[in-house]
Amino acid sequence: MLKRADKNRKLKPATLMVHGGTTRSGFGETSEAMFLTQGFVYPTAEAAEARFKGEEPGYIYSRYANPTTRMFEERMMALEGAEDARGTASGMAAVAAAIQCQVKAGDHIVAARALFGSCRYVVETVMARCGVSCTLIDGRDLGQWQAAVRPETKVFFMETPTNPTLEVIDIPAVAEIAHQAEATLVVDNVFATPIHQKPLELGADIVVYSATKHIDGQGRCLGGIILSSKDWIDENLHEYYRHTGPALSPFNAWTLLKGLETLPLRVNQQTHAAATIADRLAERSEVSRVLYPGRDDHPDAAIARRQMAAGSTLVAFSIDGGKEAAFRFIDALEIILISNNLGDAKTLITHPATTTHKNLSPEARAELGIGDGLVRLSLGLEDVEDIWDDIDGALAAV
Ligand SMILES: *Cc1c(COP(=O)(O)O)cnc(C)c1O
Repeated sequence: MLKRADKNRKLKPATLMVHGGTTRSGFGETSEAMFLTQGFVYPTAEAAEARFKGEEPGYIYSRYANPTTRMFEERMMALEGAEDARGTASGMAAVAAAIQCQVKAGDHIVAARALFGSCRYVVETVMARCGVSCTLIDGRDLGQWQAAVRPETKVFFMETPTNPTLEVIDIPAVAEIAHQAEATLVVDNVFATPIHQKPLELGADIVVYSATKHIDGQGRCLGGIILSSKDWIDENLHEYYRHTGPALSPFNAWTLLKGLETLPLRVNQQTHAAATIADRLAERSEVSRVLYPGRDDHPDAAIARRQMAAGSTLVAFSIDGGKEAAFRFIDALEIILISNNLGDAKTLITHPATTTHKNLSPEARAELGIGDGLVRLSLGLEDVEDIWDDIDGALAAV
């Protein structure tokens, strides 16, 4: 299997996403087979014993591994250049498992404070209950990563670009600080997508995804994945994953495999649409600020150019007039749908201050630059001119 992944690594992403990781059954099916089975049978008691001892290859139970899930993991490994991976039931199952499997009471985590709400809950609240402390810092300030390190620091955690303000954090620089501290760097790469950014190549040790977003890309199912070196997975995640059960359903793994076939096409199209909309928004007087990592006026544009192949499929912008104006704008949209999801075929808009980030204190929101006029737009696959007409009409209503 690793030999197959090695061979795939030389192919271009679009090819890998169609062929990578495919294992055909004896029927020679064109499309990947869906193995909806909990368990596996053994020809003899001796064969069962050998498989449990790990002396013979083969599947045992779908909480451990499943052929369809393995195809999804191998396709992602080929894209990411990772030696091994584990599919998970959701992005949060991936984040929680990737962190929890490598810490114990007394350990310490350093995390960039601009995090997806549930990620922040895991590192701050869930970990604290297990006796693992966490320091939240401004991830763009390298001095703060350095200053937060303690002898018991085990994990650095970050998301880049961040949700919802699309701040960009310097992955190679943070990885160097982490490694000097003998900590691992875990990167949540959802907003960048595996098409635009490769954290493992940039020095991260572990990369996690919510596959619910661009990887499915059509709003159908939840899923996630953790990718890393074979050694890290063997030593930290392998047993944890088997016994705590965050496994990905084979049905969802199949859906995600089909999603990967069109991932490069979709992400490139959505990125082009996002860049176009960002440029046009920047010209509008109703809009006080546009945040798009692919634009030269983005505060972290230089880092984005170094570590990302392109901007993002999302744009964040502030409507002049605060919450009232932002709500009027959102409610006047006709094609763009109000939803907190992202990476979907449908263009989606959200008002972070009253939805995804409503649990933060007003001070914490201010610290993250989440004002009452801020909206986050996730570009879909509609014709960009129709999307612009929709935005243009709604801005007129403000
Ligand atoms: C959505 C998301 C998650 C959580 O993923 P689920 O699949 O919803 O569990 C984690 N991190 C980021 C950055 C996300 O956008």
